[in-house]
Amino acid sequence: MAQQLYKVWKGKNKFFLNGRLIFGPDASSLIVTLLLIIVPVVLFCSFVARNLIHEFPAQNAGYAVFAVAVMFTIHVLLLLFLTSACDPGIVPRSPHPPEDVSGYDSSASIEVSGRQSLQLPRTKEVFVNGLPVRVKYCETCMIYRPPRCSHCSVCDNCVEQFDHHCPWVGQCIGKRNYCCFFLFVSSSALLCIFVFSMSALYMKFLMDDFGTAWEAVKESPASIVLMAYCFVLFWFVGGLTGFHLYLIGTNQTTYENFRYKAETRINVYDRGCANNYVEVFCSRKGSSKINFRSYENEEASKPPKVSSQELAVNYSDEDRRAKVEDDLEMGNDLFKMSQWRDSEEVTDIRSRTNDREAQQFSEVDSALGINSQVSSYKSDRNHSRKNERR
Ligand SMILES: [Zn+2]
Ligand SMILES: [Zn+2]
Repeated sequence: MAQQLYKVWKGKNKFFLNGRLIFGPDASSLIVTLLLIIVPVVLFCSFVARNLIHEFPAQNAGYAVFAVAVMFTIHVLLLLFLTSACDPGIVPRSPHPPEDVSGYDSSASIEVSGRQSLQLPRTKEVFVNGLPVRVKYCETCMIYRPPRCSHCSVCDNCVEQFDHHCPWVGQCIGKRNYCCFFLFVSSSALLCIFVFSMSALYMKFLMDDFGTAWEAVKESPASIVLMAYCFVLFWFVGGLTGFHLYLIGTNQTTYENFRYKAETRINVYDRGCANNYVEVFCSRKGSSKINFRSYENEEASKPPKVSSQELAVNYSDEDRRAKVEDDLEMGNDLFKMSQWRDSEEVTDIRSRTNDREAQQFSEVDSALGINSQVSSYKSDRNHSRKNERR
């Protein structure tokens, strides 16, 4: 009997509400993150904001501090939930290795002596913004990864525009939740500033009343604890916000930044600072490529034509080592690029509109066979709807 996809999902994700919510395998760490947010806010509301109400008696302005703290915390928790509980951009697995390997980079094909074997090339070349980008084959998911996609070893999934796996939110950060993740981190930084400032303000009022700082500290030790906590936490979330502001401005993921730091590469995705920001905050993230509540794809239940073990044999030790860390190579080097396109054309390509880019990415998808997988999942979804109607 066909089962819903989330029940037989091969990744390590945890599902709740019948597959409606999808978390990473380390979702339990969310409890720690929640406590790190909620406990200080409760302390702040109990020992600082409540007392500040009496400091601003005019038109009940003191309640504003209380209300802002509560509303802003709800806002932060909502962003945390949206980051953690949604599909970060998981690429559907293929039930068997791709048959069509046209367009591969012949230099990367693998020769196996003494046995007849499928020679799946490790890389394939696709075009992004008119420039060649080499994408790699994922043994686990049995797909050629789309550009910027990487396999998360924690979740065991290929994730589009993989940024990193965040242990604090217990989820991969990828194409579909990056915006929420950034807003969560930056909002947390703002919450730190707010709690720190209000606690400092309360301390000032106490110092005015009691005369000395020591007396003020004795009167409200919670304020000092909160100020110290926010000060330390701000270095973390504030620093992370600054780092991601830089990454967004240069259109890089954290993964790409760490991996290609030492290399001088042309970033084929960089469309200028303003456009890069528009891309992150104003473009549609697209719906999930997988309907986890649909019934298991019948195709998926068929035995793959080539087992993953056999595929593994085809790769050298070096290739296997590279599997986890070596996910995609953004474009070729500068020299090779100059052979393909002259710099004027590159500039021209970068200034093209979002529509054009979307079209190019869909070309990339079809080159990688992603659309065929998606359509198979869509047909599967239709199948499940029919089943539900019965
Ligand atoms: Zn994968
Ligand atoms: Zn992950």
